[in-house]
Amino acid sequence: MILPNDFKSEYKEIEQEIQLKIQDFFAKGRYILGEELQGFEQDFAKYIGQNNCVGVANGLEGLFLSLKALGVGEGDEVIVPSNAYIASVLSISQVGATPVFVEPNPFTYNIDVSKIEEKITKKTKVILPVHLYGLVSDMPAIMEIAKRYNLFVVEDCAQAHGASINGQKAGSFGDINAFSFYPTKNLGAYGDAGAITTNSYDLARKIQMLRNYGSEVRYQNEMIGYNSRLDELQAAILKVKLKFLDNWNLRRREAANEFREIFSNKNWIFPMEPEGYKHVYHQFVVQSENREADLLELEKSGYKCLIHYPIPPYKSKVYTEMFKNYTFPIADSIANKVFSLPIHGKMWSKKQDYEKQ
Ligand SMILES: *Cc1c(COP(=O)(O)O)cnc(C)c1O
Repeated sequence: MILPNDFKSEYKEIEQEIQLKIQDFFAKGRYILGEELQGFEQDFAKYIGQNNCVGVANGLEGLFLSLKALGVGEGDEVIVPSNAYIASVLSISQVGATPVFVEPNPFTYNIDVSKIEEKITKKTKVILPVHLYGLVSDMPAIMEIAKRYNLFVVEDCAQAHGASINGQKAGSFGDINAFSFYPTKNLGAYGDAGAITTNSYDLARKIQMLRNYGSEVRYQNEMIGYNSRLDELQAAILKVKLKFLDNWNLRRREAANEFREIFSNKNWIFPMEPEGYKHVYHQFVVQSENREADLLELEKSGYKCLIHYPIPPYKSKVYTEMFKNYTFPIADSIANKVFSLPIHGKMWSKKQDYEKQ
């Protein structure tokens, strides 16, 4: 059976380096806000191409603190795709702002930039694109709209580590951008972890304070902060794993090409990779008119498939009251037709290997 993740074989590849790192970690005995975290923050900022990276507890906190740092709160509106992952939307509610949904393009699954302007009001503060399944949103167009209307942009990069447009990486377009290192992400910790990237020194400093009780200097508290630190051990592990990310993304891309070949006789809608874009296939998502039958057949042939995601956020119980007068037919249609073939950084890259299964 080909499963959506293979943590054990990933660990095997990096076992020695991780073990050395952990021995060193215990020898040092520093567990919070130490040099491993600083080292990872430097490496990740450089990898993404931004001046600053600040580690936080997880991806949702990265989004929440980014909105906080921008001063987004009650009475403000944040534009977000209607097929976003629920966490992207929760971050908006957590700061007290209102999510305003814009339908996605049904082929890229990312926010349809031609539908953003009609949703902008006097209350709009932020556009929050979600780079779903590993493809970057149309950031040049989004940044142009944001500039024209004087809005902030917060990228949700939780599924797009290493994805790019003409070489510019996800997490380097918006004012402040959030990543998750949940274990199943393209770059995953051995537990919860997240980070923000930004070119703004002021925003980075604000996040540093917000994640640590609103304090930069111990016992001096300047704002109502939180405890949302990325711990030293996870940072140490991420620092090792970052070196392997490009290679694991390459394997995902190879596996994606093989899926296109293996299933070329299916009349599914396959993932798009527009000219100049680099997709990192956090998920390999197709749309099928016969999802139930296809899933049964694939299960029999040894592919463990999942559905990302079966319910659009506006139809989740938490939001049904708020959005009872709205419909988002494209998000609905996507939720009814999509499924994800299993894909990860340790996929066999040769077709024979699939056939051996
Ligand atoms: C995983 C994910 C998040 C949340 O990240 P956590 O680390 O689980 O809090 C947010 N947005 C998207 C698009 C995600 O895939």
